Amino acid sequence: MNKPDYIKTCARCQRDKPADCFRPCKTTRDKIQSWCKDCFRENALAHYKKNQARYDARRSELYHKNKNIKPVTPPQSTDTSDLL
Ligand SMILES: [Zn+2]
Repeated sequence: MNKPDYIKTCARCQRDKPADCFRPCKTTRDKIQSWCKDCFRENALAHYKKNQARYDARRSELYHKNKNIKPVTPPQSTDTSDLL
């Protein structure tokens, strides 16, 4: 699929950026998201920092919960083509 080749203004930072700087999105009319990749990254990072205590607590909880579970050996397969 070819990405649209034009400049779009990011709805968050209001900067004009090439379509390459936006992630594809099936639900929008121009098939790319309204926020640029940088804004999504910044937003995710800000959200994580804001909720870091909660994420850390959840991770710790899962760690202690799963600590005694033994890993399951994956089924042996000679066909590795689907891994690529
Ligand atoms: Zn942006």
